[in-house]
Amino acid sequence: MKTDVLVIGGGIAGAATAYYLACEGVEVTLVETHDLNTQASGANAGSIHVQIQHPEFVSLGPDWARAYGPTLRLLVASQKMWLEIGDELGVDLDVKLAGGLLIATTEKQMRQIEAKARIERGFGVPIEMLDRHSLRAHAPYLADNVIGGGFCPAEGKANPLKATPAFAAAAQRRGASIRTQTRILAVEAISTGYRIQTDKGVIEARRVVNAAGAAAAQIAAMLGVSIDLQGVPLQVTVTEPVAPLIPHLVYSAAGKLSLKQAHNGSCLIGGGWHAQRLPDGRLVTNPQHLTGNMINAAAVAPALAQARALRSWTATVNGTDDWKPIIGEVPGHKGFFLSLFPWVGFSAGPITARLTADLVMGRPPRMSLEGVSALA
Ligand SMILES: Cc1cc2nc3c(=O)[nH]c(=O)nc-3n(C[C@H](O)[C@H](O)[C@H](O)COP(=O)(O)OP(=O)(O)OC[C@H]3O[C@@H](n4cnc5c(N)ncnc54)[C@H](O)[C@@H]3O)c2cc1C
Repeated sequence: MKTDVLVIGGGIAGAATAYYLACEGVEVTLVETHDLNTQASGANAGSIHVQIQHPEFVSLGPDWARAYGPTLRLLVASQKMWLEIGDELGVDLDVKLAGGLLIATTEKQMRQIEAKARIERGFGVPIEMLDRHSLRAHAPYLADNVIGGGFCPAEGKANPLKATPAFAAAAQRRGASIRTQTRILAVEAISTGYRIQTDKGVIEARRVVNAAGAAAAQIAAMLGVSIDLQGVPLQVTVTEPVAPLIPHLVYSAAGKLSLKQAHNGSCLIGGGWHAQRLPDGRLVTNPQHLTGNMINAAAVAPALAQARALRSWTATVNGTDDWKPIIGEVPGHKGFFLSLFPWVGFSAGPITARLTADLVMGRPPRMSLEGVSALA
């Protein structure tokens, strides 16, 4: 078969790119090796992040944070899109942006949070410092030893089980064709664009968008293109539903944590804890990390010690060492685009796709990618 644009990957980056292209009347085909939304986009913790993650600020330092800064503008723009996407797609995506709280239990952590906030504010991220008293007024569920923190009103959550399917369904309504259970095996350049070998036959496309998430480097390598992106196994835990307790997205400067309460009352506990990869490639929950994650959560919100953990799961995130996205046309490979936002690619999914669609349409992206993407 032939198509104008072939999108590889049925996660949020691919489904939303297909949607924005279909909205512009482009003939687009999306190919997914499994079913839609079965990898990182459907298995993530649903946080809408805008700020720099605290553990990375501490480990990589302020110079790295300043270099990462322009990427924050994309996260701010994506957060604004999340506010409207549900209405646009006609699906309630359970978006709730009640703000993110990064809490401190020591003066040293407070200074680190303030140093991070100074950099973030320079790139348009609203962060307010809260002392113990105002923090408690915001968040009475926090432990007594919390002395203050940073509040980012833009942050919150959305439902990962709903977002990508909603983009995909809207893309189909606009004429996009979606082929699941179809694996890309090889990509070669031809005079009219690209010839893509799948396990269900050959597709010829004028342009290709590689939105294969953690597997994007393998797809790029089929064309001889090397990209610095790895798949990193992570785990998340969910508790039984409890009475409304935590309206915010909560982080801790004392240890890795992201904590939020979903629409149905369950608390989602994660924060970048690594899962274990078995020799045969399967992922399993790392029990020490599960324990560490739960200890951090209960230390921040003691009521959680009474909530039963129901389930932990694992999935592979797309990671880059410098945390920067890779969005754009690959030099020397006209018509071959990468649409990759690492680590927090659920939050950034809408803007990643919007900018990718701009580039595929041959327009300057509506936000500058300079200092953001290695391909700009
Ligand atoms: C456990 C976990 C928790 C996370 N929590 C958050 C969070 O709270 N907030 C946040 O912003 N981000 C979070 N992330 C990160 C976020 O989920 C990802 O960055 C984002 O979903 C990446 O989207 P994607 O569409 O690029 O990739 P994916 O969702 O991985 O989609 C890529 C698709 O490409 C398909 N594919 C791969 N190879 C082929 C092939 N050869 N042929 C056809 N199809 C192929 C895959 O099957 C997959 O469906 C988390 C990630 C994990 C793993």
